[in-house]
Amino acid sequence: MPEVPLIPHELLDRYDRPGPRYTSYPPIPSWTADFGEPEYREALEDLGRRRGDPVALYFHLPFCVARCWYCGCNATVTRHDHVQEAYVGRIGREIGMICDALGERRGVAQVHWGGGTPNFLGPAAMERLAETLQRRFRVAPDAAVAIEIDPRVASVEQLGRLRALGFNRLSIGVQDFDPAVQAAIGRIQSEETVGELREAARDLGFRSVNFDLVYGLPAQTEASFARTLQRVVEMAPDRIACFGYAHVPWARPNQRRIEAAALPHRYTRFALFRRAVMTLTTAGYRWIGLDHFARPGDELTLALDGGTLRRNFMGYVADPPADLLAFGTSGIGEVDGRFVQNDAHLGRYQRAIDAGMLPIVRGHVLSGEDRVRRAAIERLLCTLELPYAWLAPLGSDEALARFRPFADEGFVRFDQDRLAVTATGRFFLRNLAMQLDAGATDVSPERFSRTV
Ligand code: SF4
Repeated sequence: MPEVPLIPHELLDRYDRPGPRYTSYPPIPSWTADFGEPEYREALEDLGRRRGDPVALYFHLPFCVARCWYCGCNATVTRHDHVQEAYVGRIGREIGMICDALGERRGVAQVHWGGGTPNFLGPAAMERLAETLQRRFRVAPDAAVAIEIDPRVASVEQLGRLRALGFNRLSIGVQDFDPAVQAAIGRIQSEETVGELREAARDLGFRSVNFDLVYGLPAQTEASFARTLQRVVEMAPDRIACFGYAHVPWARPNQRRIEAAALPHRYTRFALFRRAVMTLTTAGYRWIGLDHFARPGDELTLALDGGTLRRNFMGYVADPPADLLAFGTSGIGEVDGRFVQNDAHLGRYQRAIDAGMLPIVRGHVLSGEDRVRRAAIERLLCTLELPYAWLAPLGSDEALARFRPFADEGFVRFDQDRLAVTATGRFFLRNLAMQLDAGATDVSPERFSRTV
């Protein structure tokens, strides 16, 4: 069990500031609209020439049964099956365009369906997408095939169908079991249903089940969150991701239904996360990176111990392929050293696909310096240490000088050959990662969530 220090409020006052989560470096707001469809096609052709390397696939399925008030995702409410079916048809065309550019039936090691609510797709649309995917790619028999699940539209029978379609990992959106919190975020769901789904997933042979929790929600108290955590531990998911709520009503109008005054104070918010760390590590979970927790045998823990844990757009991932092809609105990919994002607007996405175009709105070509900084940030966020040799291309002395004030603060130690994050510094990991950013990132509160 890691040491979980008390953190003085005065440190929270100083370091709770907006900052990237570094699921990419450079972060998305630094990417440019100069990178468009022609550049993406070029990247796909370059990837096509590198035959043999398997890829990862991400499918964004944005539809939901209702808009949760706290939601920060790219989501669209619909009650019409034909809207979803038409969308899946367009993803099929997008797959066709990308596979044609790659020029082969590419091998796939990881698949993720995210949203929105992927399990809100009707059975026929789901089968159609799964069939297209199997026909146009060679999904490895041992591939990790994951789907995000909203328990409000899930059933044991549906999990059986997902298993038959080849899914072997589930991520269930739990957020908080407390009824007052659920009422305050516009998402009422039953604790019993989550328990049943977790049991069913075990019986059906899903390899890993993740629960997503959120701290910093309105009406959350330390006592209420402690109870949620206790129930989560009893349900024994393989993994838990515990994210901080980002209140950005100017960017997400649905969040205007949440009163800023109902949000926990920063000290309470931090106490909620600290409570999660203590409860979950006491229950035998390993704390991984910023905000993930995994059981000792889970592949995320094995990846941490085996040196193959990575951080990408999916969060913390075990041994992902270097290239990620993304499909659907707002999908974010990485292809042959280039980042790329699809249009998040459903209408524009559809019109681009109908016109036979890849719906790219922005991207970024990684420079040599980007790669060095990115590797260093990822290493720090995954392993909590950074060998000095990794900073040599940036000029180690200069790069390390930025960490001196954090050593004085007790956040890092300068060991013989590496920088090591302390138990206190771990709570400020994003602030530390920001010291490896070239500084071009505009870290205004309009763009980024709070670091603590
Ligand atoms: S939180 Fe999930 S289910 Fe709720 S609106 Fe957002 S994407 Fe949909």
